[in-house]
Amino acid sequence: MSAPLLEVSRLKKHFAVTRGLSQEKVFVRAVDGVDFSIGRGETLGLVGESGCGKTTVGRLILRLIDPTEGNIRFDDKELTALDRQALQPLRRALDRQALQPLRRFFQIIFQDPFASLNPRMTVSEIVGRPMEIHGLIHHTDRDEKVAELLATVGLRREQLGRYPHEFSGGQRQRIGIARALATQPKLVVADEPTSALDVSVQAQILNLMKDLQRRFGLTYLFISHNIGVIRHISDRVAVMYLGKVVEMAAKRTLFAKPAHPYTQALLAAVPSLDPRQRKEDVILEGDVPSPVNPPSGCRFHTRCRFAMPRCREEEPVFQRLADDRWVACHLY
Ligand code: SF4
Repeated sequence: MSAPLLEVSRLKKHFAVTRGLSQEKVFVRAVDGVDFSIGRGETLGLVGESGCGKTTVGRLILRLIDPTEGNIRFDDKELTALDRQALQPLRRALDRQALQPLRRFFQIIFQDPFASLNPRMTVSEIVGRPMEIHGLIHHTDRDEKVAELLATVGLRREQLGRYPHEFSGGQRQRIGIARALATQPKLVVADEPTSALDVSVQAQILNLMKDLQRRFGLTYLFISHNIGVIRHISDRVAVMYLGKVVEMAAKRTLFAKPAHPYTQALLAAVPSLDPRQRKEDVILEGDVPSPVNPPSGCRFHTRCRFAMPRCREEEPVFQRLADDRWVACHLY
């Protein structure tokens, strides 16, 4: 892997919520100690069932929400260092100011392109405003620069003055991608960017993202519950379960020989048209347990076919198995 652009260590986010008539305060451990890094120009796919915390990881990295604990290091700068004493509102405001110049370097592509585009703004405004805010262009150059970006994502100059509702779902996601590219970012967090699109359009958007990555040297954190999409786009894959990364490996390694029982079950659930690719019958039973009160020991033990007494008591360490493979499981 190339030198990391992003390094995340022991990252946690616990949300406080009140429960029931007693108004008891409990904590949802959405992200509960996550470690990974992403090399420059690389795509890390973050996959897991819904509710596993992968979207919260994306929002923490973009600093849309503050972490409870842990470190985020981006392009050799510590994004969380200032937070250590950020308990008072004034201190927190100063931290946000310090973060502002870095913001243009990390952007997001959302799942629902319609909901994420302001219906009262034209394409020129939607894509051009971020460039103006970050001082990358003068107002008078906006249409010219936006037209260039639109061409990059496969849209036309004539569409500059149109509103989001005048576009199809795939075109709207292209606008979302153009907006993300507008500030010349280094890291793009793509949060289920194809989930709301027709299957026929999904491949076009994935191929466009790959093409843009090659042209602009982009680094992606690609979040999806869809293992097929993750396989198509990723260089490496991190598998999340109930707030933790349980396995991380190069794509080829992970798909050829998944090590963690949860990864094995996820892959086995993907139907194959090739009769030669007979899979073991690995059925993932039950729902993901509540992140308010996760199971003791290994969090996966309530659904794991290999669970042993030790798994209920002792949390497995996320350890390196080989050069490009990390796993958290007592089987190794
Ligand atoms: Fe299964 Fe135990 Fe490994 Fe957890 S630690 S995945 S319960 S074998």
